[in-house]
Amino acid sequence: TKTINLKNRPKGSPTITDFDFTTAEISELKEGEVLLSTLYVSVDPYLRGRMSDAPSYVPPFKLNEPISSGIIAEVLESKSENLTIGDKVIGALQWKETQLAKAENLRKVDPDKAPLSTYLGIIGMTGLTALLGLKEIGKPKNGETLLVSGAAGAVGSVVGQIGKILGLRVVGIAGTDEKVDMLKSEFGFDEGINYNTTENMIQAIQNTCPDGVDIYFDNVGGEISDAVLFNINKFARIIICGAISVYNNTETPKSLSVQPFLVKKSALMQGFIVADFADKHPEGVQQLATWLQEGKLKYKETIVEGFDNIPQAFLDLFEGKNKGKMVVKI
Ligand code: NDP
Repeated sequence: TKTINLKNRPKGSPTITDFDFTTAEISELKEGEVLLSTLYVSVDPYLRGRMSDAPSYVPPFKLNEPISSGIIAEVLESKSENLTIGDKVIGALQWKETQLAKAENLRKVDPDKAPLSTYLGIIGMTGLTALLGLKEIGKPKNGETLLVSGAAGAVGSVVGQIGKILGLRVVGIAGTDEKVDMLKSEFGFDEGINYNTTENMIQAIQNTCPDGVDIYFDNVGGEISDAVLFNINKFARIIICGAISVYNNTETPKSLSVQPFLVKKSALMQGFIVADFADKHPEGVQQLATWLQEGKLKYKETIVEGFDNIPQAFLDLFEGKNKGKMVVKI
């Protein structure tokens, strides 16, 4: 079966040559296992971290072994009591067209309840990241100002909409005018900033957040986030979800010292990973699904077709080619 391995550990920005297409044998199905056909593959910025061998909260990928990520698959054969042929499942699976997996590591998903791809996004990992990061760390209060970076992406677009549901004034930062328009016209953001065409980000944030920033949901880090610090209010909450703008750095950047800003404003800055709130995932999914049903929450996906395009779809995240969740359909 077709397989995508990690060939090199990237230095700086990853490239297509860091991936290797090979074919792998599929061994015999054992008791408790299923044979799966891949349907949808999630590509995510955090995979960049796993391509390096620096220690992190998930172990690095091994060289010359398959990459893995969140995948939706269909059961082709089963030696498990819990899954039958035709069932659709989600799991942390390998970038292979077909593969064996232990049924106990998979969760069944229902294609009649929601489109399969959404289990990777709005009612999956990225939706939960948005909801739980905002609520648990941001502790939003009606009328406050929420600023979101990476606002047109999978997590950011959901953060902003939930902010509106909770009665906040919401401003988003994204990389193109088209994305900024989308934030306002499709997702209900109050204001947007295109960081690629804005010369003075400190001023632009001040203009779009005239009452200051109470909550900053940070997906990008780097200079954009430095500019936010000049605009935070007393008791601001800064939610560190990700830092995509520095994932490909080869040298430690000279960034601002955050401490004086935090002291001056008695502000909180906290990082998190969505797994920290595992006990809240079931009710979180329920909440997201309810808002979707009620039409309060919308989602966008950029769906790339074809197994061979998985690595390029991943690379395109760093070029901002996606709007909403980037997913590869096999
Ligand atoms: P996105 O859908 O947001 O895709 C990435 C986006 O990042 C691109 O579309 C691009 O949009 C933007 N981007 C790329 N390079 C830069 C740059 N140099 N500066 C500013 N923006 C850039 O991905 P996700 O929603 O899946 O992830 C968003 C963030 O959340 C990432 O940092 C990720 O690591 C993190 N994350 C954290 C989780 C956690 O548990 N803590 C879980 C899931 C995600 P644009 O055109 O606007 O530049």
